[in-house]
Amino acid sequence: MAFEGLADRLQNTIQKIRGKGKVTEADVKEMMREVRLALLEADVNFKVVKDFVKKVSERSIGQEVMKSLTPGQQVIKVVQEELTELMGGEQSKIAVAKRPPTVIMMVGLQGAGKTTTTGKLANLLRKKHNRNPMLVAADIYRPAAIKQLETLGKQLNMPVFSLGDKISPVEIAKQAIQKAKDDHHDYVLIDTAGRLHIDEALMDELKQVKEIANPDEIFLVVDAMTGQDAVNVAESFNDLLGLTGVVLTKLDGDTRGGAALSVKAVTNTPIKFVGLGEKMDAIEPFHPERMASRILGMGDVLTLIEKAQASVDEDKAKELEQKMRSMSFTFEDFLEQLTQVRNMGPLDEILNMLPGANKMKGLKNVQVDEKQISHVEAIIQSMTKQEKINPDIINASRKKRIAKGSGRSVQEVNRLLKQFEDMKKMMKQMTSMSKGKKKGFKFP
Ligand code: GDP
Repeated sequence: MAFEGLADRLQNTIQKIRGKGKVTEADVKEMMREVRLALLEADVNFKVVKDFVKKVSERSIGQEVMKSLTPGQQVIKVVQEELTELMGGEQSKIAVAKRPPTVIMMVGLQGAGKTTTTGKLANLLRKKHNRNPMLVAADIYRPAAIKQLETLGKQLNMPVFSLGDKISPVEIAKQAIQKAKDDHHDYVLIDTAGRLHIDEALMDELKQVKEIANPDEIFLVVDAMTGQDAVNVAESFNDLLGLTGVVLTKLDGDTRGGAALSVKAVTNTPIKFVGLGEKMDAIEPFHPERMASRILGMGDVLTLIEKAQASVDEDKAKELEQKMRSMSFTFEDFLEQLTQVRNMGPLDEILNMLPGANKMKGLKNVQVDEKQISHVEAIIQSMTKQEKINPDIINASRKKRIAKGSGRSVQEVNRLLKQFEDMKKMMKQMTSMSKGKKKGFKFP
């Protein structure tokens, strides 16, 4: 997970100052020394670090006093605000052309994830914004790029405009836009050629494509794993083409995150999206404020809620809650709930969005074992309908059959049955507690 090291260090630093009723200049200086080291270690550009520390120090030392916060909390608030500002302040949106189609030109070095991101963005535009995009294969130099985009197009059931690799990208762009107009597509995403390094020929060509396509957005795709290099690449592309946004890919990997924190400050181009995996839905809008909260261990509850809303069917959730309360919760419901939670994404990512999750004992090193969950699913799926509704009937021979059917051991079947029993008992207690109080129970 990106930012882990940075988050750990910053949260430790914050811990020291959090409860302080009085924060002296020496305290702030001490804290800033640690913040500076933490940022440098996360591969944040040194100039950016210098400016950041200066701003936070100035604001923290001569700060306005707010009654609702302790001085320690106020310093943390300043850090949070400045971190948000550093990454770009307000979240930015995708442009909409006055006269469709809106043209988005995708640029970037080879291997950054440009073709993948083109597919992801088109998918997002259609799913979240109800748009009707067309993809354009204009990367004629990388042998597999056109094929790759066509495969993505098939997978997404989305048209891909291509003229093979013998026609110039400029001509491809020109014809593609006409085709998009004819076919009433409201977005055109042009996957342009990447190279291993920035070179003049490439830039010239991209400039020509830009001229002919007159794009509403030029998104640079950069690989977060390349750290400072990503920032340098962004700077060059911005100087030569004038970018409107950056998409930072592979943030799911083991990156230190410095690129995310420096791109905006160095290039003055906002990060608009982040890529979090290879699948077509592994893309998220970049929210600097939420990211800052996540780094500082304040959690990212908003994203969590959005994910829940997108993947949990509200009627079903209500029905489940009702079943829990009335104690008619069965293994079938349990399976349903597992599926809904899994739809929200990898579990360890979800845990990371909880406030303080980083600091919770036990939770920090929890390796969510997705396999274990698949095993549970397999066991439940091997039960008959009757067994799911009334697990009491599961005797020794049924257990053997279920174990065989799911490819798990009888012990595992036993363990799951016991856990389910325990869960029901706990629900019973909670329900009777809440009845006693007549107010519904509160989470601790
Ligand atoms: P291009 O040369 O810039 O068009 O790069 P591709 O789109 O072919 O991507 C290069 C590799 O990076 C592929 O294996 C992609 O699956 C992978 N990739 C792209 N975006 C992400 C991401 O956000 N996370 C991860 N883990 N892999 C990614």
